[in-house]
Amino acid sequence: SGTLYLVPTPIGNLGDISPRMAQTMAQADFIAAEDTRVTMKLLNHLELKKPMVSYYRHNSENSGQSILQRLLAGESCALVTDAGTPAISDPGEDLVALCAQNGVPVVSIPGPCALVTALAASGQPTGRFTFEGFLAMNKKNRRRHLESLRGEERTMIFYEAPHKLPATLKDLAATFGPERPISLCRELSKLHEEIRRTTLGEAADYYDQNPPRGEFVLVVRGAEPAQEEEATLEDGLARVRALREEG
Ligand code: SAM
Repeated sequence: SGTLYLVPTPIGNLGDISPRMAQTMAQADFIAAEDTRVTMKLLNHLELKKPMVSYYRHNSENSGQSILQRLLAGESCALVTDAGTPAISDPGEDLVALCAQNGVPVVSIPGPCALVTALAASGQPTGRFTFEGFLAMNKKNRRRHLESLRGEERTMIFYEAPHKLPATLKDLAATFGPERPISLCRELSKLHEEIRRTTLGEAADYYDQNPPRGEFVLVVRGAEPAQEEEATLEDGLARVRALREEG
């Protein structure tokens, strides 16, 4: 069968197109794009002409099946989204799973991804982190999601749209407390790139007064690790007994 290539695209700076991305799109038999108009601009920039099919959230079942059939018949496909890495808070996840189930090889080309770009610059601990994507719009699901993160010690990464940012910052401050550090990474790789390292309380106040513009990744510090519980006398005695028995 053919191969599915996951091709990341710039998240705001055309200079981030790599030779391998361009070559992969040039060599693929066809391109599956989230929004063909957006991808057409990229293809024009690269002076490439390629057959395109659309693959987005609401047609992913039908379109996924027809892409799979073409792959099984030997064609190769480059999957791209509007910006960043396919399958990361973007269409692609299901197509990759479908390919995996059907023995179609998947090659993931490394490239721009907002969450990694933000984490690296955040100044927050990077050793262990959890990517939380977008919070749900639905109040109940949103609350459940936030509750599940209450004791989270790893650095937490969220995506958010600007018009929802003020409400999200309020919810984050209510869940983790206003003193919790946050790095707001805005317009990464673009002209107005900005990284604001502050607290949830201050950020919530600021964006309440100043309507946010542009794209944001939120990098929230994890909870302080719980203090080791002081060993009780009972524990101490049990250890002494155990050591004695070992001889
Ligand atoms: N697949 C993409 C990736 O690899 O990062 C993510 C797509 S998701 C639909 C879009 C979200 O990513 C935005 O709402 C924002 O949170 C984040 N994002 C994308 N580009 C960004 C940029 N240049 N600066 C900051 N955040 C960005």
